[in-house]
Amino acid sequence: MTSSRVRENLIQELRLQGIHDERVLEVMTKIERHQFVEEALKSEAYKNRALPIGHAQTISQPYIVALMTQAVMGGATPTKRVLEVGTGSGYQTAVLAALVETVFTVERIRALTESARLRLASLNIRNVHFGYADGTLGWPPYAPYDGIVVTAGGTEIPQALIDQLAPGGRLVIPVGPTGAQSLRLIERTMRGTTVEQDLGGVTFVPLLTGKV
Ligand code: SAH
Repeated sequence: MTSSRVRENLIQELRLQGIHDERVLEVMTKIERHQFVEEALKSEAYKNRALPIGHAQTISQPYIVALMTQAVMGGATPTKRVLEVGTGSGYQTAVLAALVETVFTVERIRALTESARLRLASLNIRNVHFGYADGTLGWPPYAPYDGIVVTAGGTEIPQALIDQLAPGGRLVIPVGPTGAQSLRLIERTMRGTTVEQDLGGVTFVPLLTGKV
């Protein structure tokens, strides 16, 4: 159930869905998603769907992880330092960490931050800084970022996130009311203006403020 063949099948499915960045596909072939879910769900880990991780949250669907990663990596400037808002299980974090120099990841649920920190350490992933913080404010101490990936959806795009993008940087974020969200790619141009693209309809858990 967790063999490399089931992983290969999933990667084939991602290709058919339009994921074309070979760097992303290769990393997702290697990272074992079953390591990021509880025992009872391991047999489901290579299905192309979101799964529960406790605290009313989910590990994102593999297609969405691939789409967001491809979008944040796809600009004209190198993507070296990336902020992730919504650590959750740490799966998207691990995918990013395999592709960029440093990942900064913030989570508002303390128990999830702590379990993700332990999980990534046990997988020997070392280029990640974990923060227990409200990511709607970004993470100012380490800004600016070449890329920002937000794995929870709100009704608007927090201005702090746009402000913390480096020139040429890209923000990938689901936006819209529950049931009608779409994934947006916002690029900050070298002149400081922004360009927005719609990457299609998505369903994410809510982006909430404060910490618990
Ligand atoms: N990338 C994660 C997705 C987890 S679901 C994974 O693949 O497992 C989204 C996560 O965003 C949840 O853990 C939720 O607690 C967190 N979240 C929601 N609003 C947040 C905020 N304002 N700041 C930080 N994390 C937030």
